[in-house]
Amino acid sequence: MKKILILGGTTEARQLAGKLALRADLSVTLSLAGRTESPVAQGVPVRTGGFGGAHGLAAYLKEAGTALLIDATHPYAAQISANAAEAARQAGVPSMALRRPGWEPVEGDRWTLVDIVAEAAKALGGAPRRVFLALGRQEVGAFEAAPQHHYLIRSVDPVEPRLAVPDATYLLARGPFREADERALLAEHRINVIVSKNSGGEATYGKIAAARALGIEVIMVRRPALPDVPSAETVEALAAMVDHFLEPVAERGV
Ligand code: NAP
Repeated sequence: MKKILILGGTTEARQLAGKLALRADLSVTLSLAGRTESPVAQGVPVRTGGFGGAHGLAAYLKEAGTALLIDATHPYAAQISANAAEAARQAGVPSMALRRPGWEPVEGDRWTLVDIVAEAAKALGGAPRRVFLALGRQEVGAFEAAPQHHYLIRSVDPVEPRLAVPDATYLLARGPFREADERALLAEHRINVIVSKNSGGEATYGKIAAARALGIEVIMVRRPALPDVPSAETVEALAAMVDHFLEPVAERGV
């Protein structure tokens, strides 16, 4: 049995783990950061919590006898992706990444691009607006710097403590979100600007399509830089590459 560690926290990581776990020659463990209070069932053995930086992850890989590390974390989880590349190098373990492509703007989209979430709070401008924050609960704190706006904040787990702004509505929900439902939500709350990450994939694209249909501006936080490691864009493509990376380096011709 060859051991594979998948760094997860995404739908694709769960799907990849399920697919690889069907193989009798592989033993798959999925790693979660432990941010979500009740994560959906992953269907394979799970370990939870940080490793203690790249060095800690390298030690884990060696101790567990991991044959392949797969980074299937969210495109904005830049720290763990950097750690994964460095730990694999330190431990001499092959690594690969599942890199979901970002969304591209199409005709009718009104995107304003910013580099970080704090910049998005500034880009809202001085006049009060009705803002939909489709970000993780860890990031919404940046909007306390712009308390003049009304905020609709959607998250998987409650935002605790609540934001120190006078006018915010909280919504608990877990994707996927359909475009029609997103349109209804934006209309119901009279939203005129959305702050979003460029997550890519289908599950959260509904709000982007809905914004386009309604002519609503999207302040899009650009993707962070990620390490350059062998990667695939889909679960199927990555699963098809696994055997190649499980071969000893000499036989791979690298
Ligand atoms: P991050 O900033 O890149 O990572 C911060 C630290 O959290 C890492 O250094 C690591 O701690 C720990 N960590 C992160 N992912 C881990 C994993 N899969 N297994 C074990 N430890 C992990 O990550 P983040 O942006 O907070 O994201 C945390 C998790 O949420 C990830 O699994 C990611 O896939 C998921 N997620 C993130 C977003 C997002 O927008 N950022 C969206 C959806 C899902 P140590 O240094 O101690 O090892």
